[in-house]
Amino acid sequence: MNPAVISTSSCHSPPTSFPGQKGGLSPVDSYEKSLVGDVGGVLIARNLNKFNKSSQEKIRDASNIARYWLDGAMSVLSSREAQAPHLGRFNSKERRAEKKTLFQLYTGLNNLTDGSYNLFSLSKDPFAAKNSQIVARVDKSDPYGRIFLNSSAIEQRSAQELAVTILHELSHVICDTMDYFYVNWPEDDIYHAAKNFVDKLNSRNLIELQNDPDFALSRETFESSLNGAGCQFSSYAEIEKAWITERQIVLLSTADYVVARAMFLAAHDSIPDY
Ligand SMILES: [Zn+2]
Repeated sequence: MNPAVISTSSCHSPPTSFPGQKGGLSPVDSYEKSLVGDVGGVLIARNLNKFNKSSQEKIRDASNIARYWLDGAMSVLSSREAQAPHLGRFNSKERRAEKKTLFQLYTGLNNLTDGSYNLFSLSKDPFAAKNSQIVARVDKSDPYGRIFLNSSAIEQRSAQELAVTILHELSHVICDTMDYFYVNWPEDDIYHAAKNFVDKLNSRNLIELQNDPDFALSRETFESSLNGAGCQFSSYAEIEKAWITERQIVLLSTADYVVARAMFLAAHDSIPDY
């Protein structure tokens, strides 16, 4: 599974023109074209080893941090500690689902190759770039599971923040997660934040969470997932019902929750309760 090989063999396709492409690499397939072109971006590099040196270094550091979290989470989930009540309100079935999800992520991260990483930049013109906040993109149907990263976001963010990004995106392509809601990650102290997010998401009702600045969990955010690939729900009412009766299904299908959960499990014995 090496996208680099595929890219080379597909280079005969005629370059396609779209806004913002000028100066970048021509897209070799519809995934590259839509993932980068949709946001008014330019593809700068395929393969991590083609990124500039400082970006390469930061992404490798971020991958190591992400691996450290998942190693920690897997070891907690494989031990008796996983039964500790403070680790969550999951029943045994839900714990198995959680373990499966995090193991998939762990395996996916270990299988990431240089070719899994692609670099794009957004147009400097804010009107051409459709969303200047975009850090990374993936397409869940991409058979190569490529992660497209925004070059300026790599410069601006810490390795720890990028570790969150990599796991978030990887969870989409490996675990088929959705963005039913987002958590608002702080720039520092993210271990405490992860515990706080997990605790609140496990215990509070939707109205409380919708009014909490720690989350972007509006009805609109949920609804924007309803037509997306992999969505288990057909209406907001179904999501509301699931939140009460089968909340873990919603949580373990949400990228940011899976990441927060991995981080929380990895650090659970070093996070004091407060
Ligand atoms: Zn996402």
